[in-house]
Order: sequence, then structure tokens, then C-alpha cells
Amino acid sequence: MVSTEGLTGRVILQSSPGYDEARRNFNGRFNKFPIVIVYCEVTQDVVNAILWAHKQQLPFRMRCGGHSYEAFSNVDGGLVIDVSGLLRLEINREAGTARIGAGFRLLPLYEALWNQRVTIPGGTCRSVGVSGLTLGGGYGLLSRLMGMTCDNVLEVEMVTAQGKIIRANDNQHRSLFWACRGGGGGNFGVITSFTFRVHPIEHVARYKMTWNFAKIENVVRYWQTWAPHTDARLTSVLLLRAQNRDLISNGVFVGSEQELKQIMHPLKDATRPKSIEFHTTNWMNVVHIFKGRQVVQEKFKNSSAFAYDPLSDEAIGILIHNLQTAPGPTNLVVFDAYGGSISQVPTEATSFVHRKALFMIQYQSYWHEDTEADKNIRWIEKFRESMLPYTHGAYRNYCDSKIPDWPSSYFGENLTRLKMVKQMYDPENFFSFEQSIPK
Ligand SMILES: Cc1cc2nc3c(=O)[nH]c(=O)nc-3n(C[C@H](O)[C@H](O)[C@H](O)COP(=O)(O)OP(=O)(O)OC[C@H]3O[C@@H](n4cnc5c(N)ncnc54)[C@H](O)[C@@H]3O)c2cc1C
Repeated sequence: MVSTEGLTGRVILQSSPGYDEARRNFNGRFNKFPIVIVYCEVTQDVVNAILWAHKQQLPFRMRCGGHSYEAFSNVDGGLVIDVSGLLRLEINREAGTARIGAGFRLLPLYEALWNQRVTIPGGTCRSVGVSGLTLGGGYGLLSRLMGMTCDNVLEVEMVTAQGKIIRANDNQHRSLFWACRGGGGGNFGVITSFTFRVHPIEHVARYKMTWNFAKIENVVRYWQTWAPHTDARLTSVLLLRAQNRDLISNGVFVGSEQELKQIMHPLKDATRPKSIEFHTTNWMNVVHIFKGRQVVQEKFKNSSAFAYDPLSDEAIGILIHNLQTAPGPTNLVVFDAYGGSISQVPTEATSFVHRKALFMIQYQSYWHEDTEADKNIRWIEKFRESMLPYTHGAYRNYCDSKIPDWPSSYFGENLTRLKMVKQMYDPENFFSFEQSIPK
């Protein structure tokens, strides 16, 4: 049996009560059995875990919210360094900054920030971890106005491969700081806190539109030329659901309902929706509306791509064919509008590379019974492949182990510099997993 001497924090072994819950991935498609899980409560626990991993020479992973699509934050027969207990939060409203412990999940984080009427542009799902989200980019319903989550980071505190605590920002460890804004979690060290620029927020307006599936061609054709270019205060998403279910578009506008109605006119006139709703509400209500259900384990396979140009009629035809032949009624494709502040940041300014995309495409499939897994995974793979002639790359945070050229797909022209940073900060490839930055 492995000795846990040197580990501090809450240590869970295979024989400990609560082991089964502690080893669980958000994606129930995976079933992994680490030997030790250490819940770090202070930075020194992370340092001790890194030193212990060196001594034991066991594989290890770091984990925050555990939402990695491919369970990259978990490992059979090794150590999981869980940072979810790092929950210090210091908000300086006057300076417009917040130091945020690396263990926060999004809903409690938004709630704590809302108490001071500020926020960061993060993702929608309640239980996604701030660490994984931010390190890989981070997109949400305020992104066209405030940028990707990573664009709002001012500093990271990190425990390195040598067990040293360092801070990376625009003045020190600049390349590392660059790499931590889009290069993905798990590559260079364990982040223990982020300093973010925070944005005042109070009231917002939102809309929801629906159409019969039969209108899909017209809706996609029009939405893709409108949503990435409209007023940057509006972030719009489009849900294309399989098997002829209604199409849905939602959007959040940081401004008045009256203005939003004006901005929506072109989409409404061009596509004649079946229903349309507008609401004035506060930001926290929006968080609750889009936070998703409280699910423990969902079995799914997702993948992604970016549209740098509007999809041609041929591409839209392929999209429709794939949706109509989906193996399950809950499968769907989601378009997230880019443009606005996302595209104002130069491609090489952070390691998140897909700045010129008009929108991101996410292919999603869900199922309950294991017997349904293969056909869904195959559907996602075929769907992604059939769209390759019309799309670019893929999103690091929607990691997909079936993408053969994943380094260039995720990181494009920023891959070379990411490899250099890897060489500088982790020449031994201590932080290594299935899709870690190659040397
Ligand atoms: C239901 C759901 C909804 C989602 N919604 C959105 C969304 O709205 N917008 C969006 O952009 N993305 C979204 N995502 C994708 C999400 O951003 C990624 O899955 C992200 O990696 C999850 O972060 P995590 O901390 O929860 O996951 P984890 O599995 O804990 O970590 C993800 C990766 O980061 C590494 N990591 C974790 N903590 C640290 C740390 N402290 N230091 C260094 N590396 C670390 C892990 O080793 C792993 O490689 C969603 C995912 C799911 C499952």
C-alpha cells in the first residue's frame, strides 16, 4: 500500500468513506480509480502534493470542477490533486479586481461576486470549475461585451513542477501568464488563485426566440451573418436540436429591453420566429435561468469547431442531414456567437487563438444506457468530420480525444510558443496527460 506521508489536506484512499463520490467524473462515460485523492485546503497542501508525486513517481492529475469532457482531471492508479477547497475570495470593488481561489465552481462564484454587484464573463453551467474554464479560454453570455474569461485575468498564482509558488502576470513570468490564458489546464503547474478584472453588473435584458425545425436553413443563414456582428453588448446563442425539434435562440443584452427589441428587429424580420420573449431582469436571475440542472453524472460525448466564415448552403445541408439522422432526441448542435470584444484581442496576445471566428459550433450527444454509447460517439465523430471542409480547429475546453491533430486544432499558430513555454517551465514533462502540450 502506498504511504501518504507528506500529503496534507483531506486525504481520501480507496478504503476511505466517500471514495466513490470523490473519484467521480462529471461525465459518467468514464469510470476511473485513482489511488489517492487529496483535497487541498491551502496552497501548501498543493506544494506537498507535488513533492509527494515526485517522490512516489505516480501518475497524477489536478482537478477543480471535474468537468473535463474526457475526464483528463482523473487517473487510474494515481493521485488526484483536487483544488476545490481553495475558496478564498477578496473583492476590491474600487480597484475593479477580485482575487479568486482556484477551487470555485461557477454558481457560488457568481453569487459571491453578485453580493458586490460585479461579475466575470464565465460559462453558464453551475458546477464548472473556474480553473479549467479560465485556463482553456472560457465563453459565456457576457463574452461579446467583456471578452473570454481568460481575457479578464490579471495574474495567476501557481505551484510549479519544482513545488515553488510563483505569480505570473504582465510583468513577471510573462510567457507563462500568456500560456495560462487559453493553453488549457494541466500543463504548466497547479493554479492556486486567479486575480480577475471584475465588471459592475446589475440589470440586463434577455430574449428567447423559437422556430419550427423546418425553418432551419433560413435561421442558420441569417443568424450567422447577424449574431457575430451585432451590438457587442448582446451575446447570442443558437440551439439546433435533433429530430425536428424546435430551434431556439437565447441572448443576453447589457442594456435596456427597448434597445434590445430594436437590435433584434433584423433577425426577427428575416426569420419570422414562432415565438419571441423579452425580459428585463437582473444578472443573477440570468445566471439561474441558464445554470443547467443539478446532475451528478451525465453520459455524453461532445466536440467542437469554429466557423471563421459563414456556412455555405452546402455546409448547412450537411448540418441538417446530421441532425435528422441523430441517434437520440436529446442530441443537438449549439452555435455561440463570437465577434465583439473576443475579436478585439489580437490572436497572439493570449494563447486562446480562435479570435477571428464568427461563432463556435458544439456538437453534443447524451445517453443513459451504455449500449447507446457507441452510436452516439460515432455520430459526433462523423458530424465533426463531415463539417471539417467548412470549419476551423476546435475548442480546448471541449476536449475530444478523437481529434487526431488536436494540438493544431486547439492552438493553431500559438502552438509553437506554447511548446516553448512548456520547455521553459516543465522540461521534464512532469505535468503530462492525454492531451498535454507536447514538448
Ligand atoms: C455541463 C458543462 C457545461 C459547460 N459550459 C461551458 C461554458 O458555458 N463555457 C465554456 O467555455 N466551457 C464550458 N464547459 C467546458 C468547460 O470549460 C471545461 O470542461 C473545463 O475544462 C472544466 O473545468 P473544470 O475545472 O470543471 O474541470 P476539471 O476536469 O477539473 O479540469 C479541466 C482541466 O484543467 C485542469 N485543471 C483543473 N484545475 C486546475 C488547476 N487548478 N491548475 C491547473 N490545471 C487545472 C485539469 O487537470 C484538466 O486538464 C462546460 C462543460 C460542461 C461539462
